Amino acid sequence: MPAQAVVLGGGVAGATCALELSALTPPDTPLTVTLIDPQPIIKACTLVAKLTRSALDLAISDVDAAEWSRARGIVFVQDRAVAVRDGQVRCQSGAVFRFSACCIATGAAPFSPHALRAAGDSVLTLRDTCSVDSLKRKLAGARRAVVVGAGGIAMELVHEIARCHIVWVMKGTHVGSPFFDKRAAEQLSNVFGLGQLSCESLGDSLPENRDVTGSGSSASPLSAQSTIASSASSNETEKGRNIDAFGAGVGPEWVSRRFQPVLFDKKGKIEIQQPSKYTELEGRSTNSQKIVRIAKECEILRVTKDDAGVWPIVAHLSDGSMVGADVILVGTGVLPNVNWLRGSGIEIDQGFASKREASLSGCPGGILVSAENMSTNVRGLFAAGDCTTVRLDTVGADWIQMRLWSQAQTAGRACAQSMARYLQGEPAACLGLDFDVFAHATQFFNKKVVLLGRYNAQGVKDDYRMVESGGERGDDHYIRVVLVNGRVRGAILVGEVDKAETFENLILDGLDVSQLEAELVDPSIDLEDYFD
Ligand SMILES: Cc1cc2nc3c(=O)[nH]c(=O)nc-3n(C[C@H](O)[C@H](O)[C@H](O)COP(=O)(O)OP(=O)(O)OC[C@H]3O[C@@H](n4cnc5c(N)ncnc54)[C@H](O)[C@@H]3O)c2cc1C
Repeated sequence: MPAQAVVLGGGVAGATCALELSALTPPDTPLTVTLIDPQPIIKACTLVAKLTRSALDLAISDVDAAEWSRARGIVFVQDRAVAVRDGQVRCQSGAVFRFSACCIATGAAPFSPHALRAAGDSVLTLRDTCSVDSLKRKLAGARRAVVVGAGGIAMELVHEIARCHIVWVMKGTHVGSPFFDKRAAEQLSNVFGLGQLSCESLGDSLPENRDVTGSGSSASPLSAQSTIASSASSNETEKGRNIDAFGAGVGPEWVSRRFQPVLFDKKGKIEIQQPSKYTELEGRSTNSQKIVRIAKECEILRVTKDDAGVWPIVAHLSDGSMVGADVILVGTGVLPNVNWLRGSGIEIDQGFASKREASLSGCPGGILVSAENMSTNVRGLFAAGDCTTVRLDTVGADWIQMRLWSQAQTAGRACAQSMARYLQGEPAACLGLDFDVFAHATQFFNKKVVLLGRYNAQGVKDDYRMVESGGERGDDHYIRVVLVNGRVRGAILVGEVDKAETFENLILDGLDVSQLEAELVDPSIDLEDYFD
């Protein structure tokens, strides 16, 4: 009987794994690769550009699973795995698949704040292309949207939504907090043009004794008067503050510190090489149809109906304000899809003991796998992608885990290499150096972004220095390099991503560049030429 390889999940990790496994199998080796997913689509990955060895610009598209699989000699089964045990997978339909090796790539499910669960169809949690389609429908004709979250999904939403007012609610202190520390976010607000977007920032800039109960009313739902207060129940109006009554106030995040380059150390001491200027960003959007208000360090506590029927939904924020909206869009991260594996004997990460360790990985709660061979604790069972937590003791010093397409693709490929060896009776192992340095290429607010290594100095125990340039108002680039003992450990490149390869090599080579520091981020210096 031919060996059976089963891959669970047709997302980026699973599809890559099935494809590579099928390609790696010698023609004379009888192996059936079966791919199982409840959806009839596969996430196909196309390389758009290779910015460095590891930073890949990928495009993801939905393709017909049956057609895609047939063309690649893979058997596709539309079903949901409900149990994995003793060398077999049991599915929802009752079908059972025996395997010699199995890859679990069941991804992660979007996390929705408690108050928003079961809040009706005015709340949309972004998870995949299906939800993006319903997003388009929901936004058609919308007057105001509340966007929840500060990460990549939320940033993309705020950037893309047009002709609609946005209230952007985030738990953290700054835009982009899942990716950037506060310092980088501050500089990037200029490069990303957030000053152009943000006409108002809610929160700590509000005077305490301000009358925000909003006694006025207006026929127009977007009036500066209190449309929500007049439309929400009087009880709610008394308890809550109505954000429509807030005047324009530019908060501290939106004040740019202008100097270049700047060096600062771990303890927060800032050595400014040129005198700094503090300049407020514009308080008015250039696009009069799109106004973004930001509510930082804020959460939605509950949602209610608007009795007066002006808004389909009213969000009650933790700062006491109420926001009437047509739709609430949630992009607050994901949790690994592993609940269905409880009782299977597969070791699941229980979260990390300390916060510091958690920040090193950033991806707790998944199936524990070793980066050396993508294997779980159960023989013959491998895992890849968003459903995993990669063991930190098996990765390079400058690799961190994040739930991203590029990492799902890398893990899927590594998993296939390892499974292929295992199926041939050799010790399971990956071939490449995929887990030595973190690299992510993306776009935020239409700007090319490359993140390398420990770009926020995440988990760096020794003292470090950061060198940065750009990020001033009017600048279209920002570079920041993290140096530890004179060696580059991480970098953020926004706009000027052509230097990414050089920085990746510097991280990998561990060259002492302490003589250079500021020159590393000087846009007029051709670093590639210098190091050649
Ligand atoms: C809205 C949104 C936007 C994003 N944008 C970006 C971006 O711009 N750039 C980026 O790098 N990353 C982005 N991400 C993250 C990225 O999508 C994920 O990191 C990546 O898709 C993970 O791939 P995966 O294969 O591990 O999981 P998934 O792509 O989630 O695939 C998992 C698959 O498993 C299937 N499955 C689930 N349970 C079972 C089961 N029991 N049996 C069988 N099959 C099952 C699912 O149907 C699914 O097809 C985004 C995520 C979201 C939610």
